[in-house]
Amino acid sequence: MKALLIYPECPESFWSFKYALDFIDKKSAYPPLGLLTVAAMLPEEWEKKLIDMNVDKLQDKNLLWADMVFISAMAVQRESVKKVAARCKSLGVKTVAGGPLFTTEYQEFKDIDHFVLNEAEITLPRFLRDLEQGKPQKVYTTTEKPHLQSTPIPMWELIDMNKYASMSLQYSRGCPHNCEFCDITNLYGRKQRLKSVEQVIKELETLFNHGWRGSVFFVDDNFIGNKRILKRELLPAIIHWIEKRNNPFWFITEASIDVADDNELLDLMRRAGFVHLFVGIESPVLESLKECNKYTNLKRNLLDSIKKIQNYGMQVSGGFIIGFDSDPPSIFEKQIKFIQKSGIVTAMVGLLNAPKGTKLYEKLKKENRLLPHFSGNNTDFSMNFIPKMNPHRLLEGYKKLVTAIYSPKAYYERVIEFFKEFKPLKKKRPPMLRFCYIKAFIKSIIYLGIMEKGRKYYWKLLLKTLIRYPHFLPNAVTFAIYGFHFRKIFDKKPVKIPVNKKPFSQPS
Ligand code: SF4
Repeated sequence: MKALLIYPECPESFWSFKYALDFIDKKSAYPPLGLLTVAAMLPEEWEKKLIDMNVDKLQDKNLLWADMVFISAMAVQRESVKKVAARCKSLGVKTVAGGPLFTTEYQEFKDIDHFVLNEAEITLPRFLRDLEQGKPQKVYTTTEKPHLQSTPIPMWELIDMNKYASMSLQYSRGCPHNCEFCDITNLYGRKQRLKSVEQVIKELETLFNHGWRGSVFFVDDNFIGNKRILKRELLPAIIHWIEKRNNPFWFITEASIDVADDNELLDLMRRAGFVHLFVGIESPVLESLKECNKYTNLKRNLLDSIKKIQNYGMQVSGGFIIGFDSDPPSIFEKQIKFIQKSGIVTAMVGLLNAPKGTKLYEKLKKENRLLPHFSGNNTDFSMNFIPKMNPHRLLEGYKKLVTAIYSPKAYYERVIEFFKEFKPLKKKRPPMLRFCYIKAFIKSIIYLGIMEKGRKYYWKLLLKTLIRYPHFLPNAVTFAIYGFHFRKIFDKKPVKIPVNKKPFSQPS
């Protein structure tokens, strides 16, 4: 059997980092971890190839080579999936699809032959058994949540690591919290399931042996869901491994804000090489936090918690949401003020959307407020429900907000605000990436220091950094490059204010 694994194209978005990646000659930020893991679950004797359409072109000859095509995708890849499925169908190649997009809406994809839904550890062996017996079913689904202890190491040999800015690793699935808009608990449950410490260390070792040096993203939805095991077992093991290997990696992950309540945990994470956390802040408005059940963010001073994480040497990226029913008319100014004070340089402000299967989706369905299209991209100026605030006002306010926080002046001010609090551990970083950093620096001078309108703020940032925080100069350049990407993303988006049209009309 020849299996071709395909990761469809992701449209450019806030998280694609497309315009920033151009500076370091990378094609994509992260590899298709799920598909690489599925590849390792397929029979060993099968021939396997993988095409990530974000780094390589999918050609008809690739499809014709395959006996079977495996597709994995998220909602944001929907359009690309449809095209790939149609191509496979016209060439007579059988398709098998799995991943979050299909688990929630597989009925939409008429051209796909088989669906292996939910978690592959359970459904894929069932499909493979039936396939061997010559009677594969159309849909495989389960409500069981598998242990991750049998999850294999991804087949890194199927990709060219040099095309990516970071590698990825998954330690856990699920999240103990229950935010109303989030589909994680629906897909993976509230009881967090973990890989063993040995598995994680083996995965790190495998990445190391494949020659990777640099950033590794723990893709867990909430890395700190089980703090006890993290502190007692995993983080001490990572510290030991990373020191033994002379600090070949640094880590990024996602965590809830209560990470700031535990000094021991913060210290261990810093020592293990964690340098960057994505935290869901959502809103500075208490009523909006209550409305979405974000109870971890209540009863605390959010700014103090953010600064504390930064004091422990970790950059905080924040998720912010506009569009809650409880948002006051002043929400836009409130968010801008909060973001500027927080020193959160990478502030992902998105419009609220309701993915299928969430409590928010069910609530809006009952209220007859749902709209048909869910893009899966929360910074593309679309919503899949009728907001309480006037939509003209909401979209105009949102556009003003993102324009304000990503204007060069405000953006570079946040970088300095962050440097005031940032206290990283001094660790040696892998030297082999230095050449590409120098190249990126030169490009940043050309594009941001000479060609861009806000160039005087770029020079101001570099000067201030050189005088006050000279050891953060590489961080300042990296942030400047990220800022260029964010401005490109938001500048390009036209605000489609609905005038005499009905983009916010009731679904038929
Ligand atoms: S804390 Fe994060 S992952 Fe957990 S339910 Fe809330 S939004 Fe989802």
